[in-house]
Amino acid sequence: MLTIEKNPIALISVDGDPSIEIGQEEAGGQNVYVRQVGLALAKQGWCVDMLTRRSSASQAAIVQHTPNCRTIRLPAGPTEFMNRDELFDYMPEFVQAFLAFQKQEGLQYSLVHTNYWLSGWVGMELKKHQALIQVHTNHSSGAIKYSCVENIPPIASKRLAIEKACLETAARVVATSPQEQDYLRSLVSTKGQLEIVPCGTDIERFGTISRSTAREVLEISPEAKVVLYVGRFDRRKGIETLVRAVAKSSLRGSSDLKLIIAGGSRPGGSDGMERDRIEAIVAELGLGDITIFPGRLDDELSIYYAAADVCVVPSHYEPFGLVAIEAMASRTPVVASNVGGLPFTVVPELTGILVPPQDETAFAIAIDRILTNPSWRDGLGEVGRLRVEIAFTWDGVASRLSNLYSNLLAQSAALASTRKDRAVA
Ligand code: UDP
Repeated sequence: MLTIEKNPIALISVDGDPSIEIGQEEAGGQNVYVRQVGLALAKQGWCVDMLTRRSSASQAAIVQHTPNCRTIRLPAGPTEFMNRDELFDYMPEFVQAFLAFQKQEGLQYSLVHTNYWLSGWVGMELKKHQALIQVHTNHSSGAIKYSCVENIPPIASKRLAIEKACLETAARVVATSPQEQDYLRSLVSTKGQLEIVPCGTDIERFGTISRSTAREVLEISPEAKVVLYVGRFDRRKGIETLVRAVAKSSLRGSSDLKLIIAGGSRPGGSDGMERDRIEAIVAELGLGDITIFPGRLDDELSIYYAAADVCVVPSHYEPFGLVAIEAMASRTPVVASNVGGLPFTVVPELTGILVPPQDETAFAIAIDRILTNPSWRDGLGEVGRLRVEIAFTWDGVASRLSNLYSNLLAQSAALASTRKDRAVA
């Protein structure tokens, strides 16, 4: 049997820096995914470099996280935050910087795991320069995105073509839920090697503090009924639906009802327009007194999840939705849109409730059912925690990816040795 040495591997996430502050501007699930997968793979013996674009002059070019895991920031375009839709022209520069970095370090990656279509293109280009296995996670699909935005950006047709090519040519495409697998299959027909490996969460970070302690820390009264949103400010996240649902709650008028909308950057960030829009709707509906915007959360995030009675994920679409499993890990039930990967993670009536997206009345009814029944809330929370422990830990995700990489590397080594034998004969 061939033994595969754990050579250095590269996780490429051009637009999603794994070391940046999460929850603001465009930094969200992809950044968390790459960082946690990288760290967990390194724990399992892989040497992992996570390569991203340098987007600020004050950022270190290399961040060493653990002995086997580092973030590498390569030059590609202006050293400043740029919208994803404007990055494609700088991808050839990223490819050149990647090749130069390998030379400088005296290494050659044999496997790259690319994230999002921009990095997918980089992976396809790199394959023209060296023998390389490409594994790809799509994170967000152009076809779905463009079906729910008003202004389709000029990059759209290029993105759709590249996305399809990448899905059809990668050695393996990682779908994070059966729903995403079905969807990707419909895009690429029988072409495309798809495999489901879900996302994970940190079960030691979330779920280790009780609701009552969390409320003491945050100075929230034990009687309060707390509805929580966590995530970026982006129209497709459906925060408006949540705000309108809370305005329709049967508990409206009680000073116990609290709405916490967490996430978002400092004033002036690119997500500021959506935050201003949501704040205006909160004011217009007279919810200003019961709504809190704590901004981007980092260390305190686990405390907010624990303090909440219900976490709401009102997205119009969500390929996976890390927030749902983070809340479940924290024993907080979830009310979520019945879209994308959310029906994979949230089990209706057992860990939360699924409702049609953008249906504020359905969200209001579901939120009220949980807020008015604390013992059911606790039961949903316990089952949610169990589900995450069984199905959604980063170590479990990394084990599955590790097997996948090892198998692909073994297949490629076996193929190379057969070719060599034939050449000698
Ligand atoms: N997040 C965070 N702080 C915040 C808001 C969000 O750390 O203030 C994290 C959140 O915990 C989750 C990620 O951002 O891990 C969002 O991932 P998700 O898959 O839910 O959504 P995406 O951003 O990928 O659309």
